[in-house]
Amino acid sequence: MRRLLLFGAGGLIALLVVAFLARGPLATSVMGLLASRVVGADPIGALPDGLTVTLCGAGSPLPDPRRSGPCVGIVAGGTLFVVDAGAAAARNMQRMGLPPDRTAAVFLTHFHSDHIDGLGELSVLRWAGGSHARPLPLYGPPGVETVAAGFAQAYRLDSGYRVAHHGEEVVPPDGAGLEARPFRMPAAGAPVVVWDEEGVRVTAFRVDHAPVSPAVGYRIDYGGRSVVVSGDTVKSAEIARVAKGVDLLVHEALSPELVGIITQAAEEAGLTARAKITRDILDYHTAPVEAAETAEEAGARHLLLYHIVPPLLFPGMETAFLEGVPAAYSGEVTLGRDGTRVSLPAGSTEIEVTLD
Ligand SMILES: [Zn+2]
Ligand SMILES: [Zn+2]
Repeated sequence: MRRLLLFGAGGLIALLVVAFLARGPLATSVMGLLASRVVGADPIGALPDGLTVTLCGAGSPLPDPRRSGPCVGIVAGGTLFVVDAGAAAARNMQRMGLPPDRTAAVFLTHFHSDHIDGLGELSVLRWAGGSHARPLPLYGPPGVETVAAGFAQAYRLDSGYRVAHHGEEVVPPDGAGLEARPFRMPAAGAPVVVWDEEGVRVTAFRVDHAPVSPAVGYRIDYGGRSVVVSGDTVKSAEIARVAKGVDLLVHEALSPELVGIITQAAEEAGLTARAKITRDILDYHTAPVEAAETAEEAGARHLLLYHIVPPLLFPGMETAFLEGVPAAYSGEVTLGRDGTRVSLPAGSTEIEVTLD
């Protein structure tokens, strides 16, 4: 028996050694198997009818390995929308089964750099990946034209190279870049419908991110399900109004206590400019407890926190970030990270949350 065991163990070790030595060819074969599956897949078609909300960026400009710049991918009735495109948005979308070339429109909440710095890559991948003949529609309040024109200028040379290299049929020259679709800034208590097609309605509403103005959030309705994305804002009665009875409230959150620790460290290091910035940002964001209070007031069925500030880098920080939240909100809370997905199947009351 002992001999048999020794023989078995020896065989296993020999097998592992052979596998290790042949790891290159083995990986190549596995890649061949995966590539044929992944390249031809239709991950959006595989989703259930309804709303599927995916965080293609759950963070802020501060580096957090689990949370890239803000990006919310929303599939509504098979149509893909993106709310804000922070750094890594397009790469994350590809990892998360949201092919950039399927993007029907991008909705910007405001024009802070961390919400737009992934737009260039997203528009190129959408154009070249889908051979689109029209630019990517870019919705936003007044000012969105400036953003679209700036990207057009910055990417003009790149677009020329791609047309010259791949040909006009593969990359139609008129499909490059972004097409601004500005809408008027909604007044308080008067949201503006900015998309209404095939049962999908997108409504923009005013938020308060002063001195940044204009700034909006969005509500998306489809198949009897609903989601509200706050964008960047202080605690806002307007959000509580717009999110009345919503299935999912995706709300930004910044912890004043944890950011205060960074401010103190900056002051102690004599970095007064940096300390001023981390002190300033407290006055135009929402504390986690305040987001929970808004969700409670609205009667939202689920609260998903995103645009998480500061980075939550080690065990225990997520608990510290959520201090006081369960007491303020009677529903379920998810602390978002890249890849967090909430599925809201049409015509049901189901809410299914999966973390990446
Ligand atoms: Zn932001
Ligand atoms: Zn902002």
